[in-house]
Amino acid sequence: MTAPDAAELRRRTRELLAAHPPATTDRTDFLKARFDAGLAWVHYPVGLGGLDAPRSLQPVVDAELVAADAPDNDPRRIGIGLGMAAPTILGFGTDEQKERFLRPLWVGEEVWCQLFSEPGAGSDLAALGTRAVRDGEGWVVDGQKVWTSSAHLARWAILIARTDPDVPKHRGISYFICDMTDPGVEVRPLRQITGEAEFNEVFLTGVRIPDNRRLGAVGEGWKVAQTTLMNERVSIGGSRIPREGGMIGPVARTWRERPELRTHDLHQRLLTLWVEAEVARLTGERLRQQLVAGQPGPEGSGMKLAFARLNQEISGLEVELLGDEGLLYGDWTMRRPELVDFTGRDAGYRYLRSKGNSIEGGTSEVLLNIVAERVLALPSEPRNDKDVAWKDLSR
Ligand SMILES: Cc1cc2nc3c(=O)[nH]c(=O)nc-3n(C[C@H](O)[C@H](O)[C@H](O)COP(=O)(O)OP(=O)(O)OC[C@H]3O[C@@H](n4cnc5c(N)ncnc54)[C@H](O)[C@@H]3O)c2cc1C
Repeated sequence: MTAPDAAELRRRTRELLAAHPPATTDRTDFLKARFDAGLAWVHYPVGLGGLDAPRSLQPVVDAELVAADAPDNDPRRIGIGLGMAAPTILGFGTDEQKERFLRPLWVGEEVWCQLFSEPGAGSDLAALGTRAVRDGEGWVVDGQKVWTSSAHLARWAILIARTDPDVPKHRGISYFICDMTDPGVEVRPLRQITGEAEFNEVFLTGVRIPDNRRLGAVGEGWKVAQTTLMNERVSIGGSRIPREGGMIGPVARTWRERPELRTHDLHQRLLTLWVEAEVARLTGERLRQQLVAGQPGPEGSGMKLAFARLNQEISGLEVELLGDEGLLYGDWTMRRPELVDFTGRDAGYRYLRSKGNSIEGGTSEVLLNIVAERVLALPSEPRNDKDVAWKDLSR
């Protein structure tokens, strides 16, 4: 089959809309029908929600659906599944795994979380100590994960665990899909600076994972995790937004609507940040076009770096612009939000929540190292533990 062009995609989308009118079709039924028609993510293979079409043609489908007021899959609620689990399953999963997991993931029936970071392994993720030990047809997992966003909502997790402590740290890791409802999985909230608990500690005690939920070969989990992490940075820093769609939107609006707050100094800073936000937005657009040609590379790290710095500077400016009012923070009750909503909340929330942007998905310091080594080809950091068995590393 030749890949459909824009006209063909438009025709197929209209056919979907005619067969399942959004106004009278149940939301989930519509999304399932869209997936089955190959119009979910058009660059995915036929039978897995796509049509093997160029990724650049997705906007053709999206525009038709928006014009018809069709429901979407609420991508912010299922960001970890869409942005990280799905590309990893597509890249490394068996046919059976792709069949089982991709449809409910895309439709949003099953939320995913990411069990990577541990109390002793964040930036140095390959040092992780959660153990997966072979037991008959499967694995038994014991350990602790931390900062796990959405674990309290998730049905499935992407999990990396140590399967061989006798080889150097990057080589003894395997990658699994963990059922968050299985016995031995315990999720406890972690309260953040915002007062909310978006993320969690997750304790894994004797959790049994069948071998058919392993992604990639035993011991090759680090390679598989690279796909997840590269995609994570693009999905955090490079999502498609309209002009003034990000953090700069609310502050620019306040500036226009409330002239009494303006000062010359703040004007200069706002203009500079507005231009930088627009440059970052357009760079994100270019990055997405590069993605059309293949997998994300280290450039996504640069994008995520810029996103974190800008969010923190813009939200700081907004608090200053608002004066005393900017220091108000309305709600300190511990809530368990379903998604991170930067623009729909108050300035105080934005200021506090954006602090996490330079930590989540890789800290800014670590991303600077990646850009230095892999984009600028500067000498790498000394790594004395490369050839030492994980079990012999000092901890
Ligand atoms: C909001 C939020 C959501 C998150 N969600 C998830 C999630 O869903 N799943 C998940 O697995 N993890 C998640 N994380 C965890 C995140 O990936 C880690 O916090 C991050 O990788 C840093 O690890 P760490 O906290 O252990 O800090 P550490 O690695 O201990 O770093 C401490 C400090 O040392 C610096 N540092 C470390 N190594 C170097 C180096 N080589 N060069 C220079 N400086 C260095 C760091 O930049 C940092 O400032 C989340 C974090 C946040 C804030």
